[in-house]
Amino acid sequence: MATLTIPNSQMAQQESSSRLIDKHGRAITDLRVSVTDRCNYKCVYCRTGNDGAQYAELPVADYLRIVRIFVDLGIEKVRLTGGEPLLRKSLPELVRELAKLRTAVDHAPLDLALTTNGHLLAGMAQPLKDAGLSRVTVSMDAVDPDIFARITRVPGSFHKVLAGIRAAQRVGLGPVKVNCVLLRGFNEDQIVPFAKFARDEGVIVRFIEFMPLEEDRLWTPATVIPVPEVLERLHTFRPIVPLQANMLSETAQRYTFDDGIGEIGIIAPVSQAFCGHCSRIRLTSDGKIRTCLFSQFDHDLYGRMRRGATDEEVAAFIRFTVEQKEARHHIGEPGFLKPSRSMVHIGG
Ligand code: SAM
Repeated sequence: MATLTIPNSQMAQQESSSRLIDKHGRAITDLRVSVTDRCNYKCVYCRTGNDGAQYAELPVADYLRIVRIFVDLGIEKVRLTGGEPLLRKSLPELVRELAKLRTAVDHAPLDLALTTNGHLLAGMAQPLKDAGLSRVTVSMDAVDPDIFARITRVPGSFHKVLAGIRAAQRVGLGPVKVNCVLLRGFNEDQIVPFAKFARDEGVIVRFIEFMPLEEDRLWTPATVIPVPEVLERLHTFRPIVPLQANMLSETAQRYTFDDGIGEIGIIAPVSQAFCGHCSRIRLTSDGKIRTCLFSQFDHDLYGRMRRGATDEEVAAFIRFTVEQKEARHHIGEPGFLKPSRSMVHIGG
């Protein structure tokens, strides 16, 4: 695994500022925190069939210290992810403490979100809401239970996820977003059923292009369903109407239908990359900073904490690391290298 070492002398030169800005001028306001790289699903586009964690999990107090320092540096949104974050028993405790943090700029509560496969969500939605979670995104790649089981490689999983989505809506963890990774040969015929699902269930369904971040070597350009095909398929159901972006860094192109019912998003990181507006930074379950999903480097934040770094030294390391954020990914270009970790070990 590649690790970039940054000399202390260079770190000391970092000026103190309450905003994280990279060398390309992008403000970094969105932190994704992976709390485990274990998962109870084996989605074909993500994991191999092997079980178990590959990387360590930090104690809640250490995630909390790290996030607090990030928030002091200008982070406004925190998304908890994994692996499958609901496998961490201490998740409600972490959420409860994170919900007490206030943003550095206007002292507003953090936007605190969770990405989950939804398998355990029915029983966890209320405790997470009570702990202070703002909203959830549920990953669900088919509305046909058999296709769903073929993708997750866990029989009987669909109805648990559906119950999880409904519980999240019931307790007020909405608007619930449902993310569907499209993969040629598996679920392109689910696009129209998902449109109906979005309208019937009142959720925002977002189709995501398959990226070369999987453990198995499945990805080729031919496995990606092109955006025009997604739009055409939606159009066979009802005429679609574009919606305005909510903000500049929004990753999804938003659509509704001619009657205004239902919202669909299309996230096309491969064919229509949005790196120029990227506001994200990631922390792995074992406390490494990842500046891009496709990075070749882990930046060892936790190692520094374990060696006794003060909050100021941790903050200086974060600032220095953020500055190094890659301009963009190079998927599909000659010489493209797969990242040094797959999605499940980074945190999506
Ligand atoms: N277990 C949680 C879940 O299923 O949402 C959180 C972690 S999962 C790695 C986060 C997101 O990454 C999911 O929406 C998943 O579908 C997506 N994902 C995983 N591998 C991907 C890939 N190769 N390309 C695109 N999205 C991927």
